[in-house]
Amino acid sequence: MSLQETVNATFQECFGETPAYVVRAPGRVNLLGEHVDYNDGFVLPIAIDREIWLAFSPGDTDQTTLRALDLSEQVSFTLKTLASKKDSADKDLPIWALYPAGVMWALKEAGLATPALKGAYTSNVPQGSGLSSSAAVEMAFVLAWQTLGGWKLPPMERALLGQKAENRYVGVNCGIMDQFASACGKQDRLLHLDCRSLEWHTLPLPNDVAIVIADTRMRRALTSGEYNKRRLDCEEAVRILSEKLPGIKSLRDVSVEAFNRLASQLPERVERRARHVVEEIERSVGAIPLLEKGDMVEFGRLINQCHASLRDLYEVSITELDTMVRVAQSLPGCYGARLTGAGFGGCTVNLVAREQAEAFSRALAAGYEDETGFPPEIYVCSASNGAEVI
Ligand code: ADP
Ligand code: MG
Repeated sequence: MSLQETVNATFQECFGETPAYVVRAPGRVNLLGEHVDYNDGFVLPIAIDREIWLAFSPGDTDQTTLRALDLSEQVSFTLKTLASKKDSADKDLPIWALYPAGVMWALKEAGLATPALKGAYTSNVPQGSGLSSSAAVEMAFVLAWQTLGGWKLPPMERALLGQKAENRYVGVNCGIMDQFASACGKQDRLLHLDCRSLEWHTLPLPNDVAIVIADTRMRRALTSGEYNKRRLDCEEAVRILSEKLPGIKSLRDVSVEAFNRLASQLPERVERRARHVVEEIERSVGAIPLLEKGDMVEFGRLINQCHASLRDLYEVSITELDTMVRVAQSLPGCYGARLTGAGFGGCTVNLVAREQAEAFSRALAAGYEDETGFPPEIYVCSASNGAEVI
């Protein structure tokens, strides 16, 4: 049964009728531009063909009632109980319900109508693997309330409201990339987002390449501390460099040439961190003409360089990610491989010739398990459209 059929059947079971609408919203993976979003850089994500499906109808009362199939849980809340993060029985909302409730809250704050709804949802975006299952949930619900609320916003505006829900209601300090990719994805296209201006455009991703995601299933605790340290190092680099380069606001404003000239002014660790960012921003700009030409060999080389930089300069890799990348880079059909996301665990992303993707995936899983003793999770993906009403 497809996810769409499953969610329709569950809605019917729960609410005794067929749903009026179904929306789908994808997860995402980032191909280039890592740890540059908070330095005003550029990111190159795609929306993937793993997604949440949400079936819904207008509510019969003022209660919004949601069934999360994957968790076998149900919750009801109203606009009135929203601010206190309570359900209709005055109990604390469970964590998973903060995502849809947060969307309702953010829309309400923006003065947008959020009529009560009843809904059921399921998703094949793995949770907590760095493929943005949370942004997919948010984008599905923004679209659901748009459908019932009688207002219409462009996808980037919907993404910003989802980000606000996650930052201010759920309490997770994420950037805009995840919701952006889930809202704005285009089939067979890469997205190129300027994290400073929020301007974006798409670039072609040839049909004969596949995006293979490999999940180490390793999760290291305390990564938020490391993340904050990286951010502080970047801020310190800007502070010191601005003595010689007045007016710079972030590492985005520093060219590789200017950086090389001034790098010796920086403490050693800060220099390495900032070098990753400055060079990664250059790579993510340099990728544009390569993608326009369909040059997967050179684009793959940039992906490989990105991994080496994250490993050696930014120091956010772990042995398992390095192993997964090393095995991948030795296999036929692999243009490029790197860790994706914040690091310290999670997934790698691989650019692979489509006709070799199945063999690549099997060999990668076997090679990784040989070395680490753990079987990874592998997803062969395509670039898909962003959130939509079906
Ligand atoms: P990710 O990298 O997958 O976005 P997060 O920790 O940001 O990881 O978000 C995962 C959370 O999003 C889950 O713990 C859950 O609360 C919510 N979520 C994701 N997918 C689902 C789902 N299918 N059903 C219910 N809640 C979900
Ligand atoms: Mg998330």
